[in-house]
Amino acid sequence: MNKSDSERIAFLLKKIGYKKAPSIQEANLVVINMCAVRQSAVDRVYGKIKEINKLKKKKKIKTLLTGCIPKKDLERFKNYFDYILHIKSLPCWKEFLKHKSFLYYPNSRSQTFNRKFDIVYLKQRALYSNNFSTLIPISTGCDNFCSFCIVPFTRGPLSNRDHKEIIKEAENAIKKGSKEIWLLGQNVNAYISPTDPSVNFAELLKKIESIDGDFWIRFTSCNPKDFSEELIDTMANSKKITKYLNLPVQSGDNYILKKMNRPYTISQYKKLVKKIRKKIPDIALSTDIIVGFCQETKKRFQNTVKLFKEVKFDMAYIAQYSPRPGTKAAQIFKDDVPKEEKERREKILTETLKKIALKKNKQYVGKTLRVLIHKAKDGYLIGKTNTYKTVKLKGDKKLVGNFVGVKITKATSWGLAGELSEEKYDKKLIVIVGPTASGKTKLAVDLAKKFEGEIVSADSRQIYKEMNIGTNKPTKKEMGGITHHLIDVVDPDQEFNVALYKEMAIKIIQEIQARNKLPFLVGGTGLYIWAVVDNIEFPRVPPDKKLRKQLEKKTKKELFEIYKNLDPQGAKFIEKENKRRLIRAIEVCKKTKKPFWQQRARRKESLFDTLEIGIKLDKKTLKERIEKRVKKMVKKGLEKEAKRLFKKYKNKPSLETIGYQEWKDYFEGKIDKAEVIRRIIQNTNKYAKRQMTWFKKDKRIHWITTKKDAEKLIKNFLK
Ligand code: SF4
Repeated sequence: MNKSDSERIAFLLKKIGYKKAPSIQEANLVVINMCAVRQSAVDRVYGKIKEINKLKKKKKIKTLLTGCIPKKDLERFKNYFDYILHIKSLPCWKEFLKHKSFLYYPNSRSQTFNRKFDIVYLKQRALYSNNFSTLIPISTGCDNFCSFCIVPFTRGPLSNRDHKEIIKEAENAIKKGSKEIWLLGQNVNAYISPTDPSVNFAELLKKIESIDGDFWIRFTSCNPKDFSEELIDTMANSKKITKYLNLPVQSGDNYILKKMNRPYTISQYKKLVKKIRKKIPDIALSTDIIVGFCQETKKRFQNTVKLFKEVKFDMAYIAQYSPRPGTKAAQIFKDDVPKEEKERREKILTETLKKIALKKNKQYVGKTLRVLIHKAKDGYLIGKTNTYKTVKLKGDKKLVGNFVGVKITKATSWGLAGELSEEKYDKKLIVIVGPTASGKTKLAVDLAKKFEGEIVSADSRQIYKEMNIGTNKPTKKEMGGITHHLIDVVDPDQEFNVALYKEMAIKIIQEIQARNKLPFLVGGTGLYIWAVVDNIEFPRVPPDKKLRKQLEKKTKKELFEIYKNLDPQGAKFIEKENKRRLIRAIEVCKKTKKPFWQQRARRKESLFDTLEIGIKLDKKTLKERIEKRVKKMVKKGLEKEAKRLFKKYKNKPSLETIGYQEWKDYFEGKIDKAEVIRRIIQNTNKYAKRQMTWFKKDKRIHWITTKKDAEKLIKNFLK
């Protein structure tokens, strides 16, 4: 929660003109966002401020304290800090900071204060510390008054955030690529939307689950007393809520629980765990424990050890009790367990947990798990599984922030080790084909959004830079935030061929798969698709510049006749209108003295597990779409683009492309603009027909007419 508050403070400070300093020494404002749950955290603040105040003698530094500040400490801190500001008053900080110093820390439970500020500070946007794991507070404060806890005093009463605001924040984060949404609050399962009481925590989870995208939902903290059947069912039926639950028990002894003001018994807690495990068998459970609470005798402590052995937690956060001034426990009970005994109890519980956790973690060895990579450190990647297990593996730091498949090779009590998975399911590839103007880009972008994909273009013309309008390259808006590859790769006067394309495309597809995203190979160039899908090996014949120069002088018809003589079988399939391809085919035949068709058809073992989807359109609709598209391209400035390209690249083969070649006669004054448009439409129609002839030969293609058909196919394929 404090981390999330810090992200909001960071945004506000940035907004009012502050920049992040590289170090405290270089800062002119130091903000400490304090936590008071344990005395050690409070002591750290005292240590830090003394250090900073020494620096103040050499440099002008202002200091600001916020967060959870117990009343007793507030009095002392007044002498150390320039500003002490309540986090809930964040909307006023801009004004407060105009003063040389300022103190605004009213009683967090004061009604006047809460009427004024309530939870408005959460409307403040956050400067997230990363873009893949997003902390979203859903409430603040607590009314449970566990006798050891300072939170109800420092954070004030429970205040819930409007569910619409929470959903909007989650939607924005997911749109920007977040893979993990953390819903935060002191008691999240007590959530009820202030604007619609029918939206409780389970409902809120369902609403967030329904946001499109591939992401995990996590939450903390829960109180066992508010854990409803509805919430268990919601978790059990969810695909996005992770199989991890932190369910703080605090003690395994009923007497201590009562003293702690925790309103459940151990038998109720165990029943709840049983219910959860029955509906979500693979859930990983963690808990919070305080050892050495007032009147925790050795016998009572043994009940906690017993609970550990019975419930078999995956993880536990064990803390030694330290009285928090202002709490009921600090006022009424005696802190009667000596420090050494608290340490001993912590050790015993840790040892018990260690054995159980090791046994649990060993079950993962040999399995391939989905892991969200959180950071790269000392040559390793560190990530978390769905069950919140820490995983260490070797890998490229570019994978930070991505889901990857990891084969688990080793388990310890506190985590797992593994390697990037190479299993077959990671080799999936979706291919979307169709004739020109059939709507491939739009469909692919929609599907990539839904299935967390990236698009690899298989368009032999969009590969060229500067050829934008004539090749109908997707605009940034049309790309819809989805990463597109293999567009704008080479200059129009550069050599490029299918063998090069295949090499590049395969590398990119494998990188996308390593990031655990779904690659979509999308385009209308059948040869490019075929090369990748069937892993075709191409003859390694280097270009013969002299021969090419001679051939370039010939017309397409003449080239086709030459090729037909050299390779009659290949001539049945080659694109007669593609001058570059004809030249290449003749070149290969002449250099190798073998038919080109025979040579290029060398198929190696397929590298991918592929689903091929084709867009089916009736002829009339396709014709209409082509005409509309050509007219739109002309309107967008195709003439100007063609003129510039012809001037710069003269007769380069790349300009032997529909949409450009037709302008040549026009620029030479032989035809008018209407004729250019007519020719482009005619040639595009012919090209679309050739494309369909090519694709119809491939019996693996599933022809679809709606997006829903495609979604269904992909869902089944990914199962
Ligand atoms: S429920 Fe949690 S935050 Fe609230 S008082 Fe108890 S321990 Fe503190």
